[in-house]
Amino acid sequence: VSPLEVAQAYLKRVQELDPSLGAFLSLNERLLQEAEGVDPRLPLAGLVVAVKDNIATRGLRTTAGSRLLENFVPPYEATAVARLRALGALVLGKTNLDEFGMGSSTEHSAFFPTKNPFDPHRVPGGSSGGSAAALAADLAPLALGSDTGGSVRQPAAFCGVYGLKPTYGRVSRFGLIAYASSLDQIGPMARSVRDLALLMDAVAGPDPLDATSLDLPPRFQEALEGPLPPLRLGVVREALAGNSPGVERALEEALEVFRGLGLSLREVSWPSLPQALAAYYILAPAEASSNLARYDGTLYGVRAEGEEVEGVRQATRARFGLEVKRRVLVGTFVLSSGYYEAYYGRAQAFRRRLKAEARALFQEVDLLLLPTTPHPAFPFGARRDPLSMYREDLYTVGANLAGLPALSFPAGFEGHLPVGLQLLAPWGEDERLLRAALAFE
Ligand code: GLN
Repeated sequence: VSPLEVAQAYLKRVQELDPSLGAFLSLNERLLQEAEGVDPRLPLAGLVVAVKDNIATRGLRTTAGSRLLENFVPPYEATAVARLRALGALVLGKTNLDEFGMGSSTEHSAFFPTKNPFDPHRVPGGSSGGSAAALAADLAPLALGSDTGGSVRQPAAFCGVYGLKPTYGRVSRFGLIAYASSLDQIGPMARSVRDLALLMDAVAGPDPLDATSLDLPPRFQEALEGPLPPLRLGVVREALAGNSPGVERALEEALEVFRGLGLSLREVSWPSLPQALAAYYILAPAEASSNLARYDGTLYGVRAEGEEVEGVRQATRARFGLEVKRRVLVGTFVLSSGYYEAYYGRAQAFRRRLKAEARALFQEVDLLLLPTTPHPAFPFGARRDPLSMYREDLYTVGANLAGLPALSFPAGFEGHLPVGLQLLAPWGEDERLLRAALAFE
C-alpha cells in the first residue's frame, strides 16, 4: 500500500468513529497532500502519527486543550515532530488533553472530554487521553503524548496500550508547551513494544534547541534483539496495598511471567514514594505558575478586548479553566516570600531524597515493578474533588520527580477494563524497559 492509501484509510476511520469518541481536536488538513508528496524510500514513509495537542506542529493549530490557545497556529515545529516528518511520517491530527496537561482524565479539556474506547461511560485517563483513545480504537497506529506526572502512562494503562516516559532529557522538549519544565517529557505511545522502539529511535537524541536534552544516542530497536539478560526485578512494597482486585491479580500474574523468563524477583522498599504525590503537587504548580505567566494576551493565542494593558491581561487570563486557575494560585502561593521555604524549599529537598533512594535501590535491582494506577478507568464525574483526581497519580509521579524512565504496559483486565503495570529503570536505561516489556508481550 502507498502512503496515500494508508493516510486515506486512517482519515476515513477517524471521520467515522471520532465524532462519538472525541480523541482529536484537529485533523491535519494537508494530510493527503503530504502523503502524496512523501518520498516512499524514507524509513517511516507513510507512517501515520497522532500528536498530543500540546506539541507544536507548524501550520497546524495547537491548543494545549485551552481556550487561550484555541486559535494558535505555531510558526515552528516541535523537534520530535520535525524528526518524525523528516523520516517520512505523517501527522494525522492533534489529540485531546486536559488543559495544559493538568489532569488525569481529559475532563479538564476546555473543548470536550474523550471517551474510553472500552467503555463510553468512563474516562480514557489523562492528560494524554486523546492519544491513548485514538490508539485503542485504531484511529492511529502511533502517537505522541507528554508526561509530567503520569500523563503518558496512566492513559496508556486505562486504554490498554503501551506508553513510555523517557529519562528526563532523552527526548527534546523544544516545541512542547511547557507545564512543569523540570518534569515534562514527550513520550511515545503505541500498541506494541516494537512500535515504541520505532518512535523512540526517531525522536530521541540530543537537540541544540533544548539545553536539557541528553547526548545519549537512541538504540531502541537494536536493544530488542538478543536474549533477555537475567535481570533482577524489585517489586515496590509501598505500591502493594490499596489496589483493586484486577490490579492485584495482574501484578501476581506478571510476577509469574517474569519469574518464568528468568528474572530474579524480590520485594524492595522505596520509602519516600508515598509522599511523592504531595511534593509533586507543590513543585508542578510552582513551575506551572511561572510558565503560564506568558499568557497575558500580548504574544500568544487569544486576546481579550480592551484598551488598557492590565484589563486585557486579566480578561484574557480569566479564560483559563478552573483547574488551571487553581494550579496558578497554588503555585504562586508556595513560591511567595514567607512561604517559599516551608513549601517549595521542602519539596525540593524531598525530591533530592526520593532521587537518592531510587539510586540506592538500583544498586540492588535492575528494574522496578509497580502498578501504573491503583485501579482501572473510572466513570466520568467520579473525581470532582480535586484531591481525589490528584490521588490518581500516586504511582506515576515518582519517576518524573526522580527523572527516571518508566514504561506502562497492558497486563490484563478487570472485567472489561484494561489494567496497566509499570516498569522503572535506572537513569538513561530506557532501552532496558522495552526489552523486558517485549519479553512479557
Ligand atoms: N495528572 C498529573 C497532573 O495533573 C500529571 C499530568 C501530566 O503528566 N501532564 O499534573
